[in-house]
Amino acid sequence: MSSSNDEGRTHEVTNQVDELSGYSLLATDPALQQGLERQGAAWALPQLQAYGEQLGRAETYALAEQANRHTPELRTHDARGRRIDRVDFHPAWDQLLALYRGQGLVSRSFEEAERAGRWSAFAAGFYLHGQVEAGTLCPATMTQAAIPVLARDPQLAALLPQLRSTLHDPRDLPMAQKHSLWIGMGMTEKQGGSDVRANTTRATPLGGREYSLRGHKWFFSVPMSDAHLVTAQTEAGVSCFFVPRWRPDGTKNTVQIQRLKDKIGNRSNSSSEVEFLDAHGLLVGEEGRGIPTIIEMAGYTRLNCVIGSAAILRQALVQALHYTRHRRAFGRRLAEQPLMQSVLADMALESEAATVLMLRLAQGFENGERGWQRILTPAAKFWVCKRAIEFTGEAIEVFGGNGYVDNGVMVRLYREAPVNSIWEGSGNVMCLDVLRAFAREPEALLALLDDWRSDAEPVLRAEADVLQTLLTGDPALLEPQARLLCQRLVLLAQAVLLRRHSPAVVADAFIASRIAAPSGRVYGALQLDPAAIAPLLQRAFPG
Ligand SMILES: Cc1cc2nc3c(=O)[nH]c(=O)nc-3n(C[C@H](O)[C@H](O)[C@H](O)COP(=O)(O)OP(=O)(O)OC[C@H]3O[C@@H](n4cnc5c(N)ncnc54)[C@H](O)[C@@H]3O)c2cc1C
Repeated sequence: MSSSNDEGRTHEVTNQVDELSGYSLLATDPALQQGLERQGAAWALPQLQAYGEQLGRAETYALAEQANRHTPELRTHDARGRRIDRVDFHPAWDQLLALYRGQGLVSRSFEEAERAGRWSAFAAGFYLHGQVEAGTLCPATMTQAAIPVLARDPQLAALLPQLRSTLHDPRDLPMAQKHSLWIGMGMTEKQGGSDVRANTTRATPLGGREYSLRGHKWFFSVPMSDAHLVTAQTEAGVSCFFVPRWRPDGTKNTVQIQRLKDKIGNRSNSSSEVEFLDAHGLLVGEEGRGIPTIIEMAGYTRLNCVIGSAAILRQALVQALHYTRHRRAFGRRLAEQPLMQSVLADMALESEAATVLMLRLAQGFENGERGWQRILTPAAKFWVCKRAIEFTGEAIEVFGGNGYVDNGVMVRLYREAPVNSIWEGSGNVMCLDVLRAFAREPEALLALLDDWRSDAEPVLRAEADVLQTLLTGDPALLEPQARLLCQRLVLLAQAVLLRRHSPAVVADAFIASRIAAPSGRVYGALQLDPAAIAPLLQRAFPG
């Protein structure tokens, strides 16, 4: 594509590729569509189709750009010196939150009707949104994860209609006056994030379930949420508290925002440091049983990290395919150059594998399948989130120098990629969690391995055997090898899913390059059947 309306006087601008927009994110994603049909979510296709079109418009990409360029600003005091602890956002932030909330995605997975396919429909919506703007997924995911916890609470269950509401309400008012609510989560303190037991924030009983919290949180995202679920120590140990922004008596709760984090990516979203100055909190669940409550929520948010990273892979791939189909070098389009085709095809394999996996995990949550939910989800959180970091690095290089200039979607994806690997349990913590879950319920994974072996080709059966031997072997070797085990486990799961559900051209190339003869550590370092290239790239993003 070229443009001749350049204002310079020395040259005409040619061979620069226009931004990708005006496309449907769902209609151009056969793997996603087929997965939704397969997993009983065909009923969601019309709505998701419309959402995919809306997200693909230039105006929505522009909102994402604005929300990330004009980052949130903290106002600790008003003009007269009164403490307000308010974060101001560019209007694009609220428009993006309204878009997401308007789709009913915050509570889709926990909808009352419990339609079959609801988790897959949710995952697809989250994945579509995450391709265009990821920061807004932070409040979305924390609010979603809080729903089952609050629904069990006799008092807080009254908030369910506001949690399920499809109206975004950005007003800073007591909960009773609002149409809808956002909920955050606060566990991480300076002395330890992964190790929540090291929390020093104290909660002192005031009578009944009411407590007074004193201490801090080192990471406290979405501080403008209507409430946070916060961990703090009581006599009984780490407990979980519902800490609203406004106290029940209508005064502002004493949660002081110290400052906002200046983050690599995820810049539209505000992440803060806070202090609780005898803040009001309501005990949630049993005293001393805060960790299981947090772990329950983390189960959901970890799935969302996988979906969010699959979204990053998908968008980086689509952008790379669009760019290379229009940019020319040495007399041919980049997408026609054999070595670039190897890179693109390898990325297409990675992306489809992530998409089918995140959908299958979501189905596992819906069906309560322990192997997928409890073991494959943390393993995938480790592997897919890590892959996004390398993938986006490769994708910006596909754009050459343009990819390194901070003026749009590619750099945003690159900056965003690492966060899913860090929050909600970093890579090592996830791998150790897989080992812990396997030790507790080995039969959940062994049954999955049996299922995968049942119709698998010899190379996959052999890989399942090796994994089983390693997992049930010398326990002393498990911890140092936990990353290797998780990597192999996820690759095997992806290979089985692709073999069962994707065209042979995708499954063959994935299995050959990831399991039969693992290729190099960079994208494009693989041997591909030349006849596979065109169908692989066409499927990835129909031209
Ligand atoms: C943008 C952003 C927003 C966030 N928002 C929130 C929020 O809203 N609420 C909240 O509570 N937290 C939030 N966090 C914090 C996040 O969850 C933590 O940073 C994360 O859990 C890791 O904790 P930590 O930073 O204390 O690292 P540490 O616990 O110090 O871990 C450091 C490294 O050591 C590794 N490690 C830890 N234990 C082991 C072990 N036993 N063996 C091997 N390796 C190990 C970890 O994998 C990690 O790589 C946010 C973080 C970011 C980046």
